Amino acid sequence: MDETTREHKKCPFCAEWIKAEAVKCKHCGEELSSGKDEHLPAWLTLFALAMVGFLVAWFAGAFD
Ligand SMILES: [Zn+2]
Repeated sequence: MDETTREHKKCPFCAEWIKAEAVKCKHCGEELSSGKDEHLPAWLTLFALAMVGFLVAWFAGAFD
């Protein structure tokens, strides 16, 4: 493993090499997730909200 791959990573947006600790690409300006994905994807949030709404409606109907 050489220095470049150990301390640098490839930007998924523009494929340029940037520092591993970088949170923003200096080449294209895109924000990068620092290693692990902390925030949930938008579709998962919407899916969770839809499920909660469905369950609430279902329980409301069941106990009516
Ligand atoms: Zn980039």
